[in-house]
Amino acid sequence: MSSNRKGYIASISGPVVIAKGIPDIKMGEVVYVGNEELLGEVVRVMQDSFAVQVYEDTSGLKPKEPVIATGKLLVAELGPGLMAQTFDGIQRPLKNIEELVGPFIKRGVKVNPLPRNKKWHFIPKVEKGAKVSSGDIIGVVPETPLVEHRIMVPIGVSGTVVEVVPEGDYTIEDPVLVIENNGKRQELTMKQEWPVRQARPYKERLTSEVPLLIGQRIIDTFFPIAKGGAGAIPGGFGTGKTVTLHKVSMYSDSQIVVYIGCGERGNEIAEMLKEFPELTDPKSGRPIIERSIVIANTSNMPVSAREASIYMGVTIAEYYRDQGYDVTLIADSTSRWAEALREIAGRLGELPVERGYPAYLPDKIAEFYERGGRVLALGQPERSGSVTVLGAVSPPGGDYNEPVTIHTLRFVGTMWALDTDLAYRRHFPAINWLKSFSQYADIVEKWWVKNVSPEFPKYRKKALRLLTVASEIEAIASVVGEGALPDDQRLILLTSEIIKEGFLRQTALTGEDVFCKPEKQYWLLKLMMDFFDKSYELIRRRVSIEEISKLPEIYEMMRVKEDERGLAAVKELYDRVMSKLDEIAKRHGVTIGVTAEEVVA
Ligand code: ADP
Repeated sequence: MSSNRKGYIASISGPVVIAKGIPDIKMGEVVYVGNEELLGEVVRVMQDSFAVQVYEDTSGLKPKEPVIATGKLLVAELGPGLMAQTFDGIQRPLKNIEELVGPFIKRGVKVNPLPRNKKWHFIPKVEKGAKVSSGDIIGVVPETPLVEHRIMVPIGVSGTVVEVVPEGDYTIEDPVLVIENNGKRQELTMKQEWPVRQARPYKERLTSEVPLLIGQRIIDTFFPIAKGGAGAIPGGFGTGKTVTLHKVSMYSDSQIVVYIGCGERGNEIAEMLKEFPELTDPKSGRPIIERSIVIANTSNMPVSAREASIYMGVTIAEYYRDQGYDVTLIADSTSRWAEALREIAGRLGELPVERGYPAYLPDKIAEFYERGGRVLALGQPERSGSVTVLGAVSPPGGDYNEPVTIHTLRFVGTMWALDTDLAYRRHFPAINWLKSFSQYADIVEKWWVKNVSPEFPKYRKKALRLLTVASEIEAIASVVGEGALPDDQRLILLTSEIIKEGFLRQTALTGEDVFCKPEKQYWLLKLMMDFFDKSYELIRRRVSIEEISKLPEIYEMMRVKEDERGLAAVKELYDRVMSKLDEIAKRHGVTIGVTAEEVVA
């Protein structure tokens, strides 16, 4: 395509510009719009005109100003220098946070996403004469103290290595390898590009049986997500979406986090960015920013760039997946993204279907979540990587019965349902245990059985069942009063209180309870469920619930999660609770041994 394909603006409607004069314009092509050369992308091609969504503020644009076609698709620039960076939706690096809250980001400025003059220490991994093709690792670069960047042969490129640079410092534009294919020489650098709207290819899709551990009990134990899975976290304003997603970026055992702050207020994202460099990775003690990339697109930036930021983020995540990493991609919030789609569709005069959203909303949502997954990457050496996708959904008024929430739930494997009532009562994380689900629970159970305890699945199922039964009893108790209930039902209520307070409730702030290791999660649950079983046996043998509920250990079960001694404290309490119950049995001359499986089985 020739580079001087030039047209002109016919009309302007918010972020959408109708242009004319480039007959061979292509769908998805990047164009520069107006005298200031604002970046835009062709979203519709008509008989003698085309529509462009402009990624920058269009105020001041006038008809007849020029439109220049580039012949290129919207791409992400990939290479060393991505890590620890903050970009806007079209990958312009945001050097300082003030840009986020300022009235406008400067328009029409063309800046390189990755620094051109910075030198990286390249260590070659192939030799002269080797045959290389798509995805092969040709060298590595220590990108940050936490991430080794693996330089890959770009997709679709192959040949025989005729020259390799020695280990040393190079910029991303210096050739590091020369290959030859059918007599044609090609220089490879550390930089490559990929069109953001296309999923990057891989060898094979793999199933994932490994959980992404977050250290939050309600998630890891009850509603887990597998590495490479997709999850949604819907919740009304102030229910804790952002706090939960921060927990995931800090504590989850993924190696890399790509965080897309999409359409949220500038000062919220700015606050997060100020916090980020201060947070340290609990495993390495290094700042977590060294393994994170932030795409920030605030509510004061143009809506179309919000749309692009989602694709930009997912493409960068896939690029690190292909290097062999477990990547977590977080989008907060996908509702703001969907609103951007709605606005653009409206400007294009598309027929709205549900609540103003275009008919292709479900396809777009599916496309986004489907870019998650665990894969065998292309190229040598053989390696697998994953992208776990987590999207916050902010349904207006907390009403889940709206298009974005409904369609999202069709395409994700887990949902952490945030609950306004719980948040109001300051029960955090405010994830509702009766409404949330996880299709990964059965799959990752194998990991728990192998790494924690063969008894884990039994305790998990029983506890969930007990919580459900308890909610039914609570409804009755609210009418007749708890005192009118039989003792076995009161024991169920007591145990569910212990689980809610001592297990489900967990601080996001500081101290021992911020991150709960899998083994401690298991022992806490075992403590509570074995307490239930044993107490149930006593009650069946006419011991009164009062005698059990006045044990001081009840309170301790609710607090032991915070004990600085960690797992040791839980095990110690376990022994004490069991022997206290044995003492009661002895006092009443009863023997216990039969389990209470039938109550909650
Ligand atoms: P959202 O993003 O859903 O609007 P936030 O994540 O900003 O909500 O949470 C709102 C407030 O709720 C926080 O400022 C914090 O005070 C409280 N909060 C949320 N989650 C937790 C948690 N896990 N532990 C303690 N407080 C929490």
